[in-house]
Amino acid sequence: MLAVQVKPEEEVVPLISSKKLFVFECLGCREVHYPVEEAAQFLGNLKEEVTGRATLDYLCNREFARAYIDEYADEIEEAQAVLVFSCGVGAQVISSLLEDKLVYTGCDTLYLHGFQGLTAKEFDCDQCGECYLNYTGGICPVALCSKHILNGPCGGSQDGKCEVDPDMTCAWQDIIDRLARRGQLHLLERLGAPKNWSVEPAS
Ligand code: SF4
Ligand code: SF4
Repeated sequence: MLAVQVKPEEEVVPLISSKKLFVFECLGCREVHYPVEEAAQFLGNLKEEVTGRATLDYLCNREFARAYIDEYADEIEEAQAVLVFSCGVGAQVISSLLEDKLVYTGCDTLYLHGFQGLTAKEFDCDQCGECYLNYTGGICPVALCSKHILNGPCGGSQDGKCEVDPDMTCAWQDIIDRLARRGQLHLLERLGAPKNWSVEPAS
């Protein structure tokens, strides 16, 4: 099981400031606690124009999410960025489907004991409690990089493959490629504060 927590406004608002937004909100599968009131308050405080808003369950289902993207294609096209309120899996799925759009997450995902559900490996989330997707093009460095590096790459990849597991694509290569497509390579110059690993389940 997991819980979703809305990020502090001061962390997200500078990223989306002055941008027209489309908002995805995933109310979650039965296992997920989704903070309805906190998300409504966050959205109510936004000064940015919202071109549209889709509220659904199972944003983690890629085909399902794709159908919603098709349904709201005009509103998404009009928006300059997409803001996702969901667990880390849902945010990664939307980011992968909107490769050329700026996609941000408004949530952190926290681990709870119990059944974890099944997700596609390429969108895995370790429920680390401090979501990093806003700086990595919506690709998770915690779950998808063998060394869980937050300021990657490690320098060991060969032909885009991970040096620890050559069957895996190097997550940081994917991150760099996506940031380049979105004109966001400057994010690689950012050195974040040390991560609080104590809230990560494997810590
Ligand atoms: S950084 Fe990765 S592991 Fe942490 S909450 Fe985000 S998607 Fe999940
Ligand atoms: S090669 Fe890439 S995925 Fe593998 S440990 Fe290094 S940065 Fe992470």
